Amino acid sequence: MGYQYAKRMEKVKPSAIRELLKLGADPDVISFGGGYPDPTMFPIDKLRKVFDSVLLEEGQQALQYTTSEGHLGLRQKLVKRMEKIGVSCELENLFIINGGQQGLDLVAKMFIDRGDVIITEDPTFLGALVAFNPYEPEYAGVSMDEKGMNMDHLEQVLKANPAAKIIYTVPDFQNPTGVTMSLERRKRLVELANEYNVIIIEDSPYREIRFEGEDLPSIKSFDTEGRVIHLGSFSKILCPGMRLGWVVAEKELAEKLCLLKMAADTQSSTLNMHAVNRFMELYDLDEHIQQLKKMYKHKKDIMFKTMENKFPKSVQYTNPQGGLFTWLTLPKHIDTAALMKESVLPEAKVAYVPGSSFFPIQEEHNHCRINYSYMSKEKIIDGITKLGKILNKYC
Ligand code: PMP
Repeated sequence: MGYQYAKRMEKVKPSAIRELLKLGADPDVISFGGGYPDPTMFPIDKLRKVFDSVLLEEGQQALQYTTSEGHLGLRQKLVKRMEKIGVSCELENLFIINGGQQGLDLVAKMFIDRGDVIITEDPTFLGALVAFNPYEPEYAGVSMDEKGMNMDHLEQVLKANPAAKIIYTVPDFQNPTGVTMSLERRKRLVELANEYNVIIIEDSPYREIRFEGEDLPSIKSFDTEGRVIHLGSFSKILCPGMRLGWVVAEKELAEKLCLLKMAADTQSSTLNMHAVNRFMELYDLDEHIQQLKKMYKHKKDIMFKTMENKFPKSVQYTNPQGGLFTWLTLPKHIDTAALMKESVLPEAKVAYVPGSSFFPIQEEHNHCRINYSYMSKEKIIDGITKLGKILNKYC
């Protein structure tokens, strides 16, 4: 059957990398590929009690439709949490979404016509490109260093693309590089966005998983003109399976985004929103996050110690102060996708994500993203040791 797809489907394609990652899903493979949190840290017993009490005490509401903005008590709690990071917002500015991923879709749907320019970090979060692509944008990339997006380059890119509509950034422990944007650059980013009249998407699911260094104010906290849309998520601080996140935006933008959410899926799961709200009433979410940070720091330290001992000096890696990922840079002549297919997977039974898919325009082939949150400590040591053997052979 010759299906007559919409034009936008031209940009909706499985990538070769996805196919490669499927091979990494074999249970015998030690996978540093996914971006999964540590499932042993999910508070399952507490959530059993939470769901039980929600169903017992407010079952009828919890199983009913609700407003598109989401559970009032949960939104109130999130407004308070946002205040803690310097973002003063009201209920009208904040609503619940199905994870940060839905926020990316809604913002692109609201702003992007075919050919409009989205400026991203280079490399950037692959899932954002996947969310934006159906709206047929053009991309412009901004180089990064250990302090995040390079602001001089951003200015050049803005000059070259004066009609750009969105700057997309993951300022905290970026996916894929693990890099955090410095304080000065956060301020400069907002200045430049004001000057060039661009919306900023601050996508910040890892912000609370900081296990080293000092917290930095969110970009939204420097927003004086209502142009920063902040996306938060429960995926990394509680669990991704409930699919809950939140948007903070200027009232007009929040209302329009919420209309788009209503059109897309009416609302997020009432039951899950009740459960997270109750979890935050019965237990201390911050205490839970403390435990997560301890675990992730421990795993990161184990991985880095093993990398120091086992990797050749020609392989460089970023040193994240939080989040779930480090970013490897191999010598220029190495193609990490080919290396994974031909050697790392079959010989070492190890997987990572080849870096090429994270570049919106000009792919670089000598990087890969490595996750340290998901695998057990033993597998981290084993997998990195095996990967090191291969890298020593080729790098
Ligand atoms: N943004 C970034 C940078 C991410 O890494 C992820 C998840 N990997 C998301 C958004 C989406 O997460 P969720 O929809 O589970 O909140």
